[in-house]
Amino acid sequence: MAQALGVPLERLVKQLHTGESELLPRRLMSTDLRERFGWASSSTVSLYRRKGRLPAPDGRDGQRDWWWETTIDAWETEHELSWCRPCSHAFVTKVGLKEHRTRVHD
Ligand SMILES: [Zn+2]
Repeated sequence: MAQALGVPLERLVKQLHTGESELLPRRLMSTDLRERFGWASSSTVSLYRRKGRLPAPDGRDGQRDWWWETTIDAWETEHELSWCRPCSHAFVTKVGLKEHRTRVHD
């Protein structure tokens, strides 16, 4: 069963215990992206979207855009994100990380 779902067995067993399930694909909202990539400011997602750094949303729920988790997973795999470890903040460009380091950590 784990193989059929494409989920590692360990994770599936854990999910069976916690009641989570991967049978339904997850949708991520802007707030989920912010949490996942450490984007504290709400403007970060819209900024990255304006600059075309983020994939186009897979759908829209009222006023809120959303992405399949797999879309974001694929994007993250494709783009080498630059993480500032002390802040747990992901930058989509190396320049962005460098600027941040200079501004915040120097
Ligand atoms: Zn930092």
